[in-house]
Amino acid sequence: MKSATGKNKGEEKVQYSLFFIQRFKGKVLFNVPMSEYTSLRIGGPADVMAFPQDEGDLKDLMAFAEAKGFPFYVLGSGTNLLVRDGGIRGIVVNMTEGFKDITWLDGGKAIVGAGVKLPDLVVQTRDRGLSGIEFAANIPGTIGGAVCMNAGAYGGEMKDVVEGVEIAGRKGQKGFIPKSELNFSYRRASLPKGAIVTRAHMVFELRDIEEIKAKVTEFREKRKATSSAINFPNAGSIFKNPESAPAGRLIEEAGLKGEKMGGAAVSEVHANYIVNTGGARAKDVLTLMALIRDRVFSTRGVVLEPEIKVVGED
Ligand SMILES: Cc1cc2nc3c(=O)[nH]c(=O)nc-3n(C[C@H](O)[C@H](O)[C@H](O)COP(=O)(O)OP(=O)(O)OC[C@H]3O[C@@H](n4cnc5c(N)ncnc54)[C@H](O)[C@@H]3O)c2cc1C
Repeated sequence: MKSATGKNKGEEKVQYSLFFIQRFKGKVLFNVPMSEYTSLRIGGPADVMAFPQDEGDLKDLMAFAEAKGFPFYVLGSGTNLLVRDGGIRGIVVNMTEGFKDITWLDGGKAIVGAGVKLPDLVVQTRDRGLSGIEFAANIPGTIGGAVCMNAGAYGGEMKDVVEGVEIAGRKGQKGFIPKSELNFSYRRASLPKGAIVTRAHMVFELRDIEEIKAKVTEFREKRKATSSAINFPNAGSIFKNPESAPAGRLIEEAGLKGEKMGGAAVSEVHANYIVNTGGARAKDVLTLMALIRDRVFSTRGVVLEPEIKVVGED
């Protein structure tokens, strides 16, 4: 069987193995079911998954991929992702096992590793009396993923607390992108093609700890009822909220709550969530997404834009 680079798959695997055995410090897995690495629990196999431990690993990995012409895809916690059923060719760079450091600086600033989980950062900033990221108390995912998605809730967004990001460029070279060049917008940041965020430079406001604790508790409580009721694997909101109305309301008004396609269903609790009720395939989710878009367009004249990222082969 030929791969994306036109090589025989066995031959390609040997090349990957030789490289990784010689240089790479992190874990490397082959033929990895992406369903084990996404919150929707859906997705075919990735040829290779590598877990870089530090900048050295990342530099070697990216230089290797570039030299051999192997494609790569960056993965955080996979909580905003739908991987197609044919899986991902090339290397999935899993950022969740390295880059977990946080350097606390004066003036409410911190440099936060891309692999740090958002809820963990919320707890650590809260305990230091640093305010600004309370909104993320219940958003799963990594700092790297949150910056790329400009994750947000309850009126807060990553752009409010990010001053810039350290990156590994296409060939692994280090770089820094200031906030002014990230062009943050709704659930989006612009990064140079192929760049991997390694750390975010963040700034918080010094506030009373009790005040911060109260805010974090309030946001957690607000979500608790919904998230525990959803009760099936999901990837959060499937579509962005258009200006006219929340996507969930439009989908509900189009009569699609509970609509099923194979193992995928529009959540009965929150219509902008598609849930995996068991054995769902990416094809089911994509068909359901197409149906939702058609129905909302025909009933309300609104074009829904996906918020989740869809990757891989059919
Ligand atoms: C139950 C639930 C609730 C959610 N609630 C919210 C919410 O309220 N608000 C919200 O905004 N989102 C929400 N989400 C979506 C998701 O949690 C966020 O978008 C999160 O920030 C994604 O982080 P991740 O590490 O899982 O990224 P992934 O899903 O792994 O990746 C997302 C994108 O970022 C890229 N990426 C990841 N890491 C890096 C990196 N280091 N460098 C470069 N690119 C990278 C990936 O290639 C991909 O394109 C929710 C999801 C779930 C399951």
